Amino acid sequence: MNNKDIFFKHLAPTSHQPVLIEVESAKGVIIKDTSGKEYYDLIAGIGVATVGHNNEQLNKAIIAQLEKHAHVMVYGEYIQSAVNNLAVKLSQLLPDQLSNSYFVNSGTEANEGAVKLAKRITGRPKIIAFKKGYHGNTQGSMSVSSNDSKKQPYRPLIPGVKFIRFNNLDDLKFIDEEVAGVIIEPVQGDAGVIIPNPGFLSALRERCTQVGTQLIFDEVQTGIGRTGKMFAFEHFGIIPDIITLAKGLGGGLPIGAFISSYDNMQLLAKNPMLGHITTFGGNPVACASAKTVLDIVSEPALMSNIEVKGQLFDQLLAHPEVKNIRRIGLMLAIELENEEMVNKAIKLALDEGVIIYWFLSTRNAFRISPPLTITKEEIRRSCEILIKVFNKIQLPD
Ligand code: PMP
Repeated sequence: MNNKDIFFKHLAPTSHQPVLIEVESAKGVIIKDTSGKEYYDLIAGIGVATVGHNNEQLNKAIIAQLEKHAHVMVYGEYIQSAVNNLAVKLSQLLPDQLSNSYFVNSGTEANEGAVKLAKRITGRPKIIAFKKGYHGNTQGSMSVSSNDSKKQPYRPLIPGVKFIRFNNLDDLKFIDEEVAGVIIEPVQGDAGVIIPNPGFLSALRERCTQVGTQLIFDEVQTGIGRTGKMFAFEHFGIIPDIITLAKGLGGGLPIGAFISSYDNMQLLAKNPMLGHITTFGGNPVACASAKTVLDIVSEPALMSNIEVKGQLFDQLLAHPEVKNIRRIGLMLAIELENEEMVNKAIKLALDEGVIIYWFLSTRNAFRISPPLTITKEEIRRSCEILIKVFNKIQLPD
């Protein structure tokens, strides 16, 4: 059996149209397939390869930790310097209210932990989430994600969740004294890079403070430099009570985190103790990788260039087929006429050696979220190819 046959026979599918690049290796922004064809990876494995594929500094940190030790115990029992170092680094990058980290393995798990924590802090039953929001695919995170058709077959999900409109100040009145937490992506990612109106997030912060509700920022997609700041909340002059991270944090190894104040986090250890437990959370190899990602991304030269590189995409992708570009930092939604054009663009781009990709709940746009280390020259070359693609999408197949 060849690799493709094995893939179809032995791996459970997620869709009937997988991309099927047969990967041989990856370096920087390039993924090479087994036939030797090279692709510009403009999606970084969906916002994961923050510092590029096969990054030498990251590899060194990972190997050095592996040579010391990998998993030795479940989360929260032994003192491991790789885990400590990551927690310290995060606390240095975050404000004092967000100084205590709980490490998990993925974005959805981070959000599970955050929602549980909000309930624990407040003793309240309800959660508010946002229309078009996406927070993950396990039962709890799916319950606070908004795509009804995708959720329907898995009901009943967790009760007491209400969805309100992003960017709608009127809906903030639904946040009341029964609400434990509000979970929001500060920039909605899978809705197609929806940026909050000026004042919306500060009004949300104010309302949560007023009624004693925990404000949870899901920065799984927006965190770790993606928007041009280390965390997206820094753009908006407010601080959430709980923040969740994953995706780009590990730079390619699986790790997530939910982070809050020291006092809040103590609650997970008492009445009952073991309020949130995980075997693999805080895996030391993943932590060593994440600490190095943070070291690289917090370099001023890299961080200050994220916005500049984002603007270069804006300029170079101007084309009559492009109806709109929504962008913050290196997180872009490129809107075309309709879904059919998006499907065609993604396919033609793949043929030409550029990887762009769909959003989960916006059909008339595709995403670009490259490694933050992409060079201006690589942006120029990949955009040249995309312009060729846009020139072709009106032609019959
Ligand atoms: N939150 C956001 C904002 C996300 O974009 C995603 C993944 N697309 C998740 C949570 C879930 O992360 P994971 O797939 O690692 O569970």
